[in-house]
Amino acid sequence: MTRRGSSLCPERDFAVPTTYRGGCHCGAVRYRVDVDLSKPVLQCNCSICSRTGALLSFVPANAFTLEEGEDSLTDYQFGKKNIHHLFCKVCGVRSFARGQGPSGPMAAINTRCLEDLDATTLQVQHFDGKSR
Ligand SMILES: [Zn+2]
Repeated sequence: MTRRGSSLCPERDFAVPTTYRGGCHCGAVRYRVDVDLSKPVLQCNCSICSRTGALLSFVPANAFTLEEGEDSLTDYQFGKKNIHHLFCKVCGVRSFARGQGPSGPMAAINTRCLEDLDATTLQVQHFDGKSR
């Protein structure tokens, strides 16, 4: 991936993503992700997000690395089946999802599952997934 601009440019209008680690509760699922959390995270009102309470941030698939736990994931799909809602079969935590975005494969990160981050301090944007 090539980064636009230069870190010397004071007027850049994009934030450089930060690397976070995250995963499920029991530790079976572990990942690393480059994500820009200066952008608001999405609180979606669709049938699954309203039940799980995820605060989502979307990243290109190549910004996400699953380090452990592929075997511990259960894939849940519903509706149009565009999105793989992956949850840990041990502890049940849905720490991320995979799907196709407008510009290619995406990962949806549940920012509540990132380490060293208090997701309640993030800017939240409400997303009307229910009517889509
Ligand atoms: Zn787990």
